[in-house]
Amino acid sequence: MLKAAKLTKLRQRLEMEKERIEGHIIELEGMLRLEDREISSGEDDADVAARVVSYNGLIALLESEQQTLEEIEQALRAVQDGSYGRCVVCGSDIQLARLEARPYARRCITCQERQGG
Ligand SMILES: [Zn+2]
Repeated sequence: MLKAAKLTKLRQRLEMEKERIEGHIIELEGMLRLEDREISSGEDDADVAARVVSYNGLIALLESEQQTLEEIEQALRAVQDGSYGRCVVCGSDIQLARLEARPYARRCITCQERQGG
C-alpha cells in the first residue's frame, strides 16, 4: 500500500502531467488546422507532399498524447476509488520506483514485460 503522503505527491504529478498534455494537445490541434489549410490551398506538389508528411507526424503525436491523457485520467480515477498503485493484471502492488518514473503505470514490471507495450 502507498503511504498517503506518497499518494498525494503522485496525484499532484498526475494532475500536472494532465495539464501539460492537455495544453500540448490544444497546440497540436492548432498546428493540424494550419497544416490542413496549407495542404488544401497548396499548388506546388512537392510542398504539399512535405506537408502531408508533417501532417501525418502531427496526427501520430496527437494520438500518442491522447492515449497518455487517457491513461492519466484512468490513474486519477484509480486514486479516487482507492485502486491506484495496484497492477490491473495481477492485482499486486506496483513498485514505487516504477510509479515515480511513470505515475500512470497500470501494470507491474512483471506484467508489463510479459505483455509488452
Ligand atoms: Zn502485475
